[in-house]
Amino acid sequence: MRISDCFAAGVQPLSFETFPPKGDLPVDQARNVFAGLAPLDPAFVSVTYSAGGSGNSGRTVEVAQCAKDEFGLNAMAHLTCINATRESIQAQFDAMRGAGLENVLALRGDVPADQLVNHEFKYAVDLIPLAREAGFCVGAACYPEGHAACLDTVADMRHMVAKQSAGAQFFVSQLFFDNQAALRFLDRARHAGISVPITFGIMPFLSKSQITRMVFMCGASLPAPVVKLLARWEHDPAALRQAGIDYACQQFVDLAAQGVDGLHVYIMNQPDIAARVTEALR
Ligand code: FAD
Repeated sequence: MRISDCFAAGVQPLSFETFPPKGDLPVDQARNVFAGLAPLDPAFVSVTYSAGGSGNSGRTVEVAQCAKDEFGLNAMAHLTCINATRESIQAQFDAMRGAGLENVLALRGDVPADQLVNHEFKYAVDLIPLAREAGFCVGAACYPEGHAACLDTVADMRHMVAKQSAGAQFFVSQLFFDNQAALRFLDRARHAGISVPITFGIMPFLSKSQITRMVFMCGASLPAPVVKLLARWEHDPAALRQAGIDYACQQFVDLAAQGVDGLHVYIMNQPDIAARVTEALR
């Protein structure tokens, strides 16, 4: 099913982000993840991709096909274009088509520090029209608190509008811990002319090291309640994980009540997180 149709159905789609598991048997391991997700009946699952080949990201299409064919899950493959050539992108499209995948999240990817060898694609906006021409339903990334490398939020919004003009049919947001910041962003996006659905992505914090890494990578702000939870449970990893999932559930319940277009959970391949959020939303 095309993800644009999930939004058109008038419900608030709940979706889960997964990644190709590390190790020698990524598809076998992915089966364990999808077996936990299928009973939750998400609107779609997405599978990340990294051109740099970190972990098993080269297996994105295979893993997404497994979700679709073996578990009946609606799947979306991520695709990055930085360092890619037109030929390599067309090869990815062919592989996705061959696997029967209809949905692509078209991304630039992070610029590698020292190995930028191809310059054919500079931004996601260069990839989006190609994915549309290839017949896919195309999503793009957006950043409620601005992209980490862009200090000018007005320019960042302009770049988001350009992605919509290039053919993005929906947006999936970067993680955030402050719902008010996300809702202000939603207002600004609508005023700037974004008319396609925006689904809000949230990653529960599970440990202090994980949240520190995330905050530095994506520039999300840490509201006082999160800092207090981190301080309170710092020396109790199980309680901190629990508090992080509870906090994310509260964020989702609040966003659902605000009537946002969709909800996307960064589940880190842990189906219990998906189950907890699904339960909270019921
Ligand atoms: P772009 O939209 O191209 O933006 C990148 C930067 O360039 C921004 O700062 C933007 O403001 C700026 N910019 C855009 N257009 C212009 C212009 N014309 N002139 C000047 N500046 C411009 N990474 C992966 O490697 N694999 C994944 O699977 C993956 N999945 C993701 C899923 C989601 C939902 C999100 C939010 C991010 C994901 N990422 C993934 C991370 C993403 O690749 C990085 O955030 C990357 O740095 C930007 O990708 P983008 O598609 O948003 O890029």
